[in-house]
Amino acid sequence: MTMAHQAIDQALTALVEITAGFARRGWLLATSGNLSVRVSASGEPLLLLVSASGRDKESMTAADFVLVDESLQPVESGLQPVVSQIKPCPSAESVIHARIYQATGCGCVLHVHTVWNNLIAERLSSYGEVVFQDLEMLKGLDIWEEAAEIRVPIVENLFHLPALADAVVARIADPRVPGVLIQRHGLYAWGANPFEAKRHVEAFEFMWEYLFRWWSVEAGFVPAQKGDRKGRPYEPTEAGQGSIVGG
Ligand SMILES: [Zn+2]
Repeated sequence: MTMAHQAIDQALTALVEITAGFARRGWLLATSGNLSVRVSASGEPLLLLVSASGRDKESMTAADFVLVDESLQPVESGLQPVVSQIKPCPSAESVIHARIYQATGCGCVLHVHTVWNNLIAERLSSYGEVVFQDLEMLKGLDIWEEAAEIRVPIVENLFHLPALADAVVARIADPRVPGVLIQRHGLYAWGANPFEAKRHVEAFEFMWEYLFRWWSVEAGFVPAQKGDRKGRPYEPTEAGQGSIVGG
């Protein structure tokens, strides 16, 4: 088995496992979401394994991922173009994946549409970002500083995917923040490898849900705690951004 075949095999195994796990959590409903791994070495032209378009994510197998070159055309593992018409089509959002690889040099990109990420992206869209401070879960993003603060960009959802890809990469600024939210759409997150990218998605999804549930507590849907940090877990800052205080 050549190096390239080995990389493709390992990437396929990781993608099938991550897809099944995310599907179980309801993060890939109604064929939404897409997943990819870079199988070319960094510095070489992009060679990606990408989820096929329109597949039910609960039953994805290795046959439901497509190898594409940097122009996002399907290729065989020997890199010759695919001639069969039966081969699945790469996800239409592959163009966003490709741009994220080029912008960050990462090794895996994962995209999920969830209720929590849609709610947060929509509610904070006018701020253009969501701020998290001093949360233990920030360690899930490999941020170990004391009282760390991160700002996750929120971009407008654009129908034209190359324009959406431009909008996403234009907002990638802080190398500690491996994700961008798209309003009324979902989350793109990435990592050096599939394991890391999956951990980043899990950390982000935890934080969206946590923030939204805090708001619900504040709104009085749940009884507040006695002496609950002055009842201000969510504070709009002067600039108007929202943030969670304390973890
Ligand atoms: Zn999407």
